[in-house]
Amino acid sequence: MQTKYVNAFLVNHARGDPALFIDLLGRSRAIMFDLGEVFRLERGELTRVSDLFISHTHMDHFFGFGTLLRANWGQDRVITLWGPPGLARNVFGALSAYTWNLASQTTLAFRVREAHPDHLSTTLFSSADAFAPGPTERLPHTGSVLLAEPEFTVTFARLDHKILCLAFCFTHADHLNVDKQRLAEAGLPEGPWIRDLKTMLAAGDPAEGATLRVAGVEMPAADLARRLVVRARGEKIAYVTDTIFSDATLAAVRDMAQESDALFCECAYAHADADRAAANHHLTAWQAGTMAAAARARDLRLFHFSPLYVGRESELTGEALSAFRRGGRGPKARNEPRPPTRRAPEPPASRAAESG
Ligand SMILES: [Zn+2]
Ligand SMILES: [Zn+2]
Repeated sequence: MQTKYVNAFLVNHARGDPALFIDLLGRSRAIMFDLGEVFRLERGELTRVSDLFISHTHMDHFFGFGTLLRANWGQDRVITLWGPPGLARNVFGALSAYTWNLASQTTLAFRVREAHPDHLSTTLFSSADAFAPGPTERLPHTGSVLLAEPEFTVTFARLDHKILCLAFCFTHADHLNVDKQRLAEAGLPEGPWIRDLKTMLAAGDPAEGATLRVAGVEMPAADLARRLVVRARGEKIAYVTDTIFSDATLAAVRDMAQESDALFCECAYAHADADRAAANHHLTAWQAGTMAAAARARDLRLFHFSPLYVGRESELTGEALSAFRRGGRGPKARNEPRPPTRRAPEPPASRAAESG
């Protein structure tokens, strides 16, 4: 999905490794949800990723770490990786694959933040120390917010994939724009005061008595805001992958992805293969569509198709969208979606290339 402010796209095709790139347009900054193979990204994209949120470290979700490292080597920056307990060990393992005796004029560091039930642990790996792990700090943490900045927030939910797997949701702050027509009708000129007004509003309602200088005249900020500013809801983008379908999953995704503009959701199997999906703790297309409908998402984007469906991708897409539309806001919204009937499982030989 793309707006004036955000461009969010899956790096690979639906059968490729999971990696969702969220570009904050015009701000030389991006974040990512998962880091599967990312050869398709340009170096300039990999060097503006500030924060990566890793659902779990099965290979298809973390294989791209080497590409990220290679692209950023020589840069003076800190990249933060967020994820489940154990992520720091995985990052250290990936960094330990190389020899770091060569001096660098720059310092590249990875800050790893693991979400534990009652705290965040933070460990820094810096090229200045040949990527040896620094001391691990423990920060108190509860609730669903991982990263909160004035511009955007990232929340998470815990899913069950035989191991812990995290789902993520990016929410941009509301967009504040001065209505040009109202500005003209008020007879006020454009100027730096507009930027100052937006900055003030981004922090909350203007303080009582706060003023802004407009064409040499001090004017009440609250009055300017009320007359001129239009507030538009910020983008909300949810990402759900590698989970069993259960009441707990449905509730967690519905709460996290509520009213999202786009829900990017795995759908490894057709519902006819629901037994296989359950055995591997993955979703069927029907289940993905049902979750998107429960969350009242505006759009559903699918990925993580099993290689079983080569050439049959449209079956998965059609099934998921059918469940999404039937469970959504249409005339059949109150009807419980009825999944298609199951068919016999495929022979075990065709499971060989399935990923985690
Ligand atoms: Zn996976
Ligand atoms: Zn997995």
